[in-house]
Amino acid sequence: MRPRATLRKPAIVTRRLLSLTVRAAAITSTSFGIAFGFLSGTVGPNAHYDPYTFAVGVSALFGAACGAIGLLLSRIGQMKRELRHLEARLDEAADRNWQIKEAEERAKSFFEAQDDVIVRRGRDGAITYVNDAFCALAGRSRGGLLATNFTLTVLEQGDAPALADGTRGCDQKIAAPDGARWIAWREVTVRSESGAETQSVGRDVTDRVEAERALAEARDQAEMANRAKSRFLAMVSHEIRTPLNGILGMADLLRDTPLSAEQTAYLNAVKNSGETLLALIDEILDFSKIEAGRLDFAARPFGLAAFVEEAVELLGPRAQAKGLEICCYVDERLPARVVGDAARLRQVLFNLTGNAVKFTEQGGVSIVVEPAAPPDRVAIAVRDTGIGISPDDQARIFLEFEQADGGAARKFGGTGLGLAISKRIIDNMGGTIDVASAPGEGSTFRVTVPLPRAGDANEPPFAAPDLRGQDILIVAPGAIEASLLARHLQRWGARMQIVPDEKVAAAVLPEQPWAAVLADQALGTAASEAVARLAAAVPRRIVLVAPAMRSELAALSAAGFSGYLIKPVRAASLAARFADDAAFAAAAAAEPAAAGDAANPGAGLSILVAEDNEINALLTRALLVKLGHRPTLAKNGAAALDNWLAARAAGTPYDRVLMDLHMPGTDGLEATRRIRSLETEQHSPRTPIVALTANASAEDRDACLAAGMDGFLVKPLDRDRLAAALAAADKSALAA
Ligand code: ADP
Repeated sequence: MRPRATLRKPAIVTRRLLSLTVRAAAITSTSFGIAFGFLSGTVGPNAHYDPYTFAVGVSALFGAACGAIGLLLSRIGQMKRELRHLEARLDEAADRNWQIKEAEERAKSFFEAQDDVIVRRGRDGAITYVNDAFCALAGRSRGGLLATNFTLTVLEQGDAPALADGTRGCDQKIAAPDGARWIAWREVTVRSESGAETQSVGRDVTDRVEAERALAEARDQAEMANRAKSRFLAMVSHEIRTPLNGILGMADLLRDTPLSAEQTAYLNAVKNSGETLLALIDEILDFSKIEAGRLDFAARPFGLAAFVEEAVELLGPRAQAKGLEICCYVDERLPARVVGDAARLRQVLFNLTGNAVKFTEQGGVSIVVEPAAPPDRVAIAVRDTGIGISPDDQARIFLEFEQADGGAARKFGGTGLGLAISKRIIDNMGGTIDVASAPGEGSTFRVTVPLPRAGDANEPPFAAPDLRGQDILIVAPGAIEASLLARHLQRWGARMQIVPDEKVAAAVLPEQPWAAVLADQALGTAASEAVARLAAAVPRRIVLVAPAMRSELAALSAAGFSGYLIKPVRAASLAARFADDAAFAAAAAAEPAAAGDAANPGAGLSILVAEDNEINALLTRALLVKLGHRPTLAKNGAAALDNWLAARAAGTPYDRVLMDLHMPGTDGLEATRRIRSLETEQHSPRTPIVALTANASAEDRDACLAAGMDGFLVKPLDRDRLAAALAAADKSALAA
């Protein structure tokens, strides 16, 4: 409580009292003078006045004087009241003043005692206020700081975070008397009596900054260790791959020699185990690359439908060998060509489709590709009718080395890495991957990825036939491929009906005129032939055949089919079948010859093989000899160059060069560059060069093309891919 102060009356009140007293004295003396005059007049020796009248006059005068005095007294009372009111207000004001002063004192002592460092400077940078903490940090007394331009010594400038409240801030490492301290400053402009001042409040964050730095260092070390582990894994996997390729290649060659049934069984076991080991190493290699952040992504335009259909065709034999259906549907509303990393997306599609085939014993697998929201996104759904996945397992299977229940994992094998890799790839592409499944009811893995329309030629990959008003019947034991084929045909205008066997077909066929009948050879050849006979009057009679059943084509043609389609059916082939009734017999007759050609294009070439690994060199030579070529081996890049020059000098230049990338001394890239520069110097014809490598990275591929190679072959080599690469290199060399 404020101590009572003696009140000084304000001058105005004193003045008023003084004037009232003067006025009262004047009135009283005037009244007295008049009364005295009257009385002396009446009682004097010369007075002729009537005393009675005088008495009345005097009384009136006295009354008037009393009235004036009464009025004066009431004014005095009112003045007193006003005075008391004024005194009360003065008291109140003095109380408030005291409170403000007290708060000011408190704030000052609070500032003073703050742990935070506070300094205020005027416009000229001179210090107008510092608290104790600032004095301690500066190592000076308050008196030695005030009114000076003293600044702290900054050892290191830290972050300058942008603050939401509009204050300026920065972190600084300050040299203080008891060692360096990290101070986080916040600066504001404040008003003061002398104008605008800058107030800086600094908090000592040394502990926090040091903890953060220690944490970052520990994280960097952990990441470095992890990268080193991944590099080690990648290197070891790569090294294991090379001899494994040799084992697999030799097993292939051995299979072509005369073997007993028992030896063939053992050899198959060697081959299967080798392939499993290779797949496992490839997954570990990929995973370690992802871990090391070295997985390359390269967005290039590619044809979407062909991409999906090729993937399905590659996995087709595995599914068909298990008696499963496998097919795909690429929505025709999607752009024909899109931009994305086809190689990585293929890896994901292979993994999902491979799993779908692996975990399905009955029914089949479908891959449906449709537009997704927002635009430019594509949804790929891989659906199977397999064993399904429980909700608990669904939450785990995208993690590394996780598999659904252990029993199934033992039965089906695998590393539990495929989905983890797929998820990382899709995440990297900015997409999503998830699964919907229930045990025993199959699974649907759904991927959405951004695949924007490619700027280059965007015409549809095939011309869709006009099937409006046509009735088409599909006779197929499985519902999956039939329903996807029906979806295409319906889109082109046809009215569709699907029946499961030849008996129902026999009942349905006579009901109405049909424009076409599609029969799946999976009904059995006899049943398919029966359908052909029943549909003799139908203009288009097409049979669907798995590649392994091509041998049945002649019999099916004889039974009355007018055309055939190889499963899984490509949309373009389906469209072509309905656009044009190409001669079935001619196509069927051309089949074996075409296959023969593909297996051995341009036989009898002289080929230089640069390969330092003896087993691989042996394998490549054996494969080339089997393809009918004449290989010559060189142990490294320099030897290859010598061989190439010698052959040219002798007038028998090599038709092709197969060049291993990693060789001691002159490596494959260097040897290729030298060959290309010699060709340019001497204006001589270009020799097609195909790279041989155990590594299929985009970097390697780009490096090969940049060095002047025409093709790229990833080990392990097999006969078909070798033949195809030799043929493709020829084409690209001619184009170059
Ligand atoms: P892997 O197949 O090599 O074990 P993945 O990461 O590809 O590794 O799959 C992890 C696990 O998820 C599999 O072991 C399996 O238990 C489960 N899974 C994946 N796809 C399917 C599927 N289509 N149907 C049933 N289970 C599946």
